[in-house]
Amino acid sequence: MSRVYNFSAGPATMPLPVLEEIQAELLDYKGSGMSVMEMSHRSKVFQTIIDEAEQDLRDLMNIPDNYKVLFIQGGATLEFSMIPMNLCKNGVFDYIVTGAWSKKAATEAKKFGKVNIIASSEDRNYSYIPDCSDLPVDDNADYVYICENETIHGTTFQKLPNTKGKVLVSDQSSMFLSKPCNVSDYGIIYGGVQKNVGPAGLAIVIIREDLIREDVADNVPVYLRFDTHAKNDSLYNTPNCWAIYVCGKVFKYLKSLGGLSAMNEINKKKAAVLYDFLDQSKMFKGTVDKEVRSLMNVPFVTGSAEMDAEVVAATKAAGFDNLKGHKSVGGLRASIYNAMPIEGVEALVEFLKKYEEEHA
Ligand SMILES: *Cc1c(COP(=O)(O)O)cnc(C)c1O
Repeated sequence: MSRVYNFSAGPATMPLPVLEEIQAELLDYKGSGMSVMEMSHRSKVFQTIIDEAEQDLRDLMNIPDNYKVLFIQGGATLEFSMIPMNLCKNGVFDYIVTGAWSKKAATEAKKFGKVNIIASSEDRNYSYIPDCSDLPVDDNADYVYICENETIHGTTFQKLPNTKGKVLVSDQSSMFLSKPCNVSDYGIIYGGVQKNVGPAGLAIVIIREDLIREDVADNVPVYLRFDTHAKNDSLYNTPNCWAIYVCGKVFKYLKSLGGLSAMNEINKKKAAVLYDFLDQSKMFKGTVDKEVRSLMNVPFVTGSAEMDAEVVAATKAAGFDNLKGHKSVGGLRASIYNAMPIEGVEALVEFLKKYEEEHA
């Protein structure tokens, strides 16, 4: 067996101890005589899996009792439409657009009401976060929407926007569980899990109970109603049992490491290894304003598309995979989620240092 350092933006690297546990339980889960992927979602065994997963997530994030945790299929993208469909009261939605994902979400919301882009960083290719302390929040806005960590552009909010009393909705897909989070600051926190937690095909939605409405429009499909999932404890239909099981393992693993404060310390230290290198490098340069750069997704460039491609090829040959940047930013991108060991980042920096010396 040989595993590479996988810097993919998602689906992304998983903690090795979790993969090993899953491997050990694959054929016979805790004496049930079957794999989790073979068992009924109505079975006692699976009920314990999903209950424990929810409880461990609640413990990790200190989720207050007036918030529901929902496990919904369709990934983060389905939430782009579920959110406006379910939160629509006045039909006015305020979006802060700081990158590709918030832009996509805003575009989708237009199908369900009037979308105001109340702030945007598009003018500098989303390399910064606009000042969100005094935005023209619409009096009728049903919510204010952000993508808290833009996976492609590599920015992250250091301070939540002033929503002037309106409900804050945050896409945390690429930063989920990477640091402590004060859930009460939000109406909805959600994320696709394949960036920082588990396998693809599952979104976790943490939603304040008063936002789970029964008076949503009649034509909203039953599966796309939050109240459907809330009333049935995420078991209205067959959920993504496998992903819920794996996420549950990751929650336990994060708890064993000391929870989200500990993860934040690890992540800060890990990202600093790469940013410190980029800050002094003459060949490589980060693409994001320093004060808002992400601890999870680190885009950087050489300034020449040709050289970028050469570096990507060289890294791959050396056992560092998936470093090619997204086409909208170019260059390289290292996604260094919770599960990327600091040794992986140190080894990458060593490699880039040597590459720079040899090609100076
Ligand atoms: C990856 C990603 C998405 C899309 O997730 P899917 O599960 O593929 O739908 C949405 N938002 C952010 C911030 C992401 O990183």
